[in-house]
Amino acid sequence: MIRHQKRLKRIALQTLKKYGEKKLPINVKRLSEKMNIPVIAYQKMSNIQKELYIDKISNPAITVCSGTIHTIYYDPARSDCDQWIAHELAHIILGHESDNEENEKAANFFAHYLRYRESHIKQYLAALLAGVAIGCAIGLFCTINSNSNNKDDVETVYITPSGEKYHASKSCAGLNAVVIPLDIAQKLQKSPCLVCVD
Ligand SMILES: [Zn+2]
Ligand SMILES: [Zn+2]
Repeated sequence: MIRHQKRLKRIALQTLKKYGEKKLPINVKRLSEKMNIPVIAYQKMSNIQKELYIDKISNPAITVCSGTIHTIYYDPARSDCDQWIAHELAHIILGHESDNEENEKAANFFAHYLRYRESHIKQYLAALLAGVAIGCAIGLFCTINSNSNNKDDVETVYITPSGEKYHASKSCAGLNAVVIPLDIAQKLQKSPCLVCVD
């Protein structure tokens, strides 16, 4: 259970409005830049920093604070690095001071909402179901893939408009199944098919 969802959504929307980043695809790196939060790949850390954060840089992204200045460092090799940068941004925006479970859940929720908002997901899905090419509709898929050289990096599943489950197998999903990224299926509250998803 994620607490204070309404509040998290409101803050996410306020942030996007404040920094003029309302149009999809949300560019999280540009948003960070506008917030004066540098986003830097782990490789570009100085040797001293690398030593200092050696046990942390196995994480997809971390935030380093010095006084009131935050810097996000991230692993650019990950196809989902934008989500993790958004996750770190969420911690900063929400003023989290520790990584307890509630803060982690809130940061994940906030990051997802910041990037995808339900209304856009519904639009995307409607366009997809209407046969519009992936990526043309509102660029949502492009967001997911923007930092990935390999489209196969994005885990995809099959859903149908009326089905409550998402499937690994197209034939199990049914005739009018469409393929969408797994995280969007989850955002649409679909649950894994017990037959074909392990
Ligand atoms: Zn976190
Ligand atoms: Zn299935």
